[in-house]
Amino acid sequence: MYLCPERFFEIFPEALDDFETSLATNMLTTKVCMGVPIPVPMMDDGVCVFLSSSGCTLSKERRPCECLLLVPNEETLFSEEIHCKVAKGFSYVECFRRWSAIYERRSSAGRLGKLF
Ligand code: SF4
Repeated sequence: MYLCPERFFEIFPEALDDFETSLATNMLTTKVCMGVPIPVPMMDDGVCVFLSSSGCTLSKERRPCECLLLVPNEETLFSEEIHCKVAKGFSYVECFRRWSAIYERRSSAGRLGKLF
């Protein structure tokens, strides 16, 4: 998920003018979380469309926030559990609220381009 709206619009500035077309052009869609649509990569048979045999095809700069979020923990290599965690203080709920605020302003402004 592109959890940070500001980062999303930095990566995809054209989305300010035409959000839906930008999503489709960049092989993105939305996932509804707490009633808020959050941009995510499209999936193909349950697999992210950006995953190739050599890993992620997106540069780190364009990768979804959530893909950069986990702090690695080497214990994950030696057990059957994932020990990697998100950084302390991070809140999904806060991210969803920030996106929700963007959509509210969008509906009152008519276009995202008037928001920033
Ligand atoms: S790291 Fe790349 S391939 Fe993996 S889920 Fe994120 S965007 Fe998709």
